[in-house]
Amino acid sequence: MSSQIDEIKNRLDIAELVGSYIRLQKAGVNFKALCPFHNERTPSFNVSPARQIWHCFGCGKGGDMFEFIQQIEGVEFGDALKTLADRAGVELKREDPRLKSERTRQFALLEEACKFFESNLAVKPPLGGLTALDYLKKRGLQDETIKTFRLGYASDEWRALGAHLKQKNFSEKDLENSGLVVKSGQGYYDRFRGRIMFPIFDYSGRVVAFGGRILEAPTSQAVGATEAVAKYVNSPETSLYQKSKILYGLNFAKSEILRASECVLVEGYMDVIMSWQGGVKNVVAASGTALTHDQLKTIRRLAEKLIVAFDMDSAGEGASKRGIDLALAGGFDVRVAGALDAGLKDPADAVYKNPALWQKAVSASRHIAQFYIDSALKKHKPNSPEAKREFQRTVLPVISSLADLERAHWVREVSRILNIKEEAVWSASEKNKPAEGTENVFENSASKPKTRKELLEEKVLGIVAEYPALVPKLDPALSALISSGSDGTVVAGGRTAIFAELFLSGIIDAEAELIKCQRELKKEYLKEKLAYLNAQISSAEKTGEGNVGDLLGEFQKISKELHTL
Ligand SMILES: [Zn+2]
Repeated sequence: MSSQIDEIKNRLDIAELVGSYIRLQKAGVNFKALCPFHNERTPSFNVSPARQIWHCFGCGKGGDMFEFIQQIEGVEFGDALKTLADRAGVELKREDPRLKSERTRQFALLEEACKFFESNLAVKPPLGGLTALDYLKKRGLQDETIKTFRLGYASDEWRALGAHLKQKNFSEKDLENSGLVVKSGQGYYDRFRGRIMFPIFDYSGRVVAFGGRILEAPTSQAVGATEAVAKYVNSPETSLYQKSKILYGLNFAKSEILRASECVLVEGYMDVIMSWQGGVKNVVAASGTALTHDQLKTIRRLAEKLIVAFDMDSAGEGASKRGIDLALAGGFDVRVAGALDAGLKDPADAVYKNPALWQKAVSASRHIAQFYIDSALKKHKPNSPEAKREFQRTVLPVISSLADLERAHWVREVSRILNIKEEAVWSASEKNKPAEGTENVFENSASKPKTRKELLEEKVLGIVAEYPALVPKLDPALSALISSGSDGTVVAGGRTAIFAELFLSGIIDAEAELIKCQRELKKEYLKEKLAYLNAQISSAEKTGEGNVGDLLGEFQKISKELHTL
């Protein structure tokens, strides 16, 4: 196996590989880019062709080309190996041949089924009426869209697909494993009948499952039971399809999400497809589930901003609300798309009427806190007890989950609207904070990532270790971390600055880099101070000891300093 890995590494160039996913700029002997794994404005993502590694000074991620594929595609090592082997033209020998052929057969079967459904689009239903193609066109879908999303039709027969696949030499076991065929006392029958078929793709665009929407009530009864006819039916979970991990539309949307640094989340397949056709292409839907940790993790690699476009009145309490809470807990910048004009059901409907209506709704998105504030004020007068109760229930939990600076902004806002002292809002939002030690779903507890502060400190120390002449330029707050070895070399406080050193060959102006890093570091120190002041303010508020006014004054002073840096 390791010789195959080496062979792949020899045949591929990391800069070329990474450059096919994100835009790289030359920087000395290395390349720089905006990091695809965290949100940033100045590039701290580095690629070293000489060492065939990549590393981000902003979020601390790094590794070889396999690690890069795992991270950016959101796949396990085995899949990254397969992807890179294909790219390098290396044939993998050691994969379990039984497992490999099982997986390969499943992908081939699903692809064949997809083609079969596509070829049926214009088949007339037995009792007449619209064909699937008629229906889709009536809903406003263009030919190109239907082709791109590979929409199809499962005719209203019991064994059409099964017979077709058997003719293509797939076994009954294969059919059953795919979830497209159901085993019963009388043999096998097709799961999807009389339905418009939406293939569900994995990250790389391979068909892994289907969703089927009823075209009209089937003429035949389900075997032996009075099965109610559901509007939508999905494939069951299989070895290739784990609902909690798949986002519908992501294979089409991923590069747009990365580019826009925001992801629009809608509810249904038709919403994704019509949004895409209507020019909002950074769009996905949770496929048949409420939003899960795994789905959010995948989105988070591409974007930090999440714009939800649910029907928030009905979604306010249920599964969608839980998804929003999860996203907030994961540090997403959650926004709510602007309301659609009265009479428009959903995004698909809006695009059907006029794509500009949908584009306008997305660009008019509001911060989730603002959304809850507006909703509360629509129902209650700001000075009423009902308004306060509603704020307590909906707005405060959101504010509590925000980082301190942002939280300060919304506390001020709420204080102004409800005419309550800022300190009181602070302490109320403090009570709503998740308990200390609550696990952040996005952090791998086994290897806690380094903080931005730690990473910057490492880099600064790395620079002076390499260029001792720059020690006098060091911020006094930092020089405490440095000591001089007996031979006059700089010892960076025993801290590992290995990655910093690795990339120093690419730094053209070490002094400018040092100054830039120190400025960023100063910001981190100020943010820490602000967080500390917050804690003091709320404890002063609780105990009545200490001067809250002074503390708030100090808070505002530092906050201002931070913004002028
Ligand atoms: Zn990064």
